[in-house]
Amino acid sequence: MNITIHTVTLEDEFRSCPLCGYNDGFHTMLKRDQEHNVVHWLFICPACHEIFDIHQKSISP
Ligand SMILES: [Zn+2]
Repeated sequence: MNITIHTVTLEDEFRSCPLCGYNDGFHTMLKRDQEHNVVHWLFICPACHEIFDIHQKSISP
């Protein structure tokens, strides 16, 4: 499954979708990156369903 992940730099807050302008927060998802042994914390716009990476990740347990 190919998904497009948009990389965004987090400033004061990440609440508004930079693509469609939705302004009420995001759904979230986790995605394991086996190769780099990390889990990425990603954000999904509820309106346009695009996926964003604001560089939140953790070492996988
Ligand atoms: Zn959107």
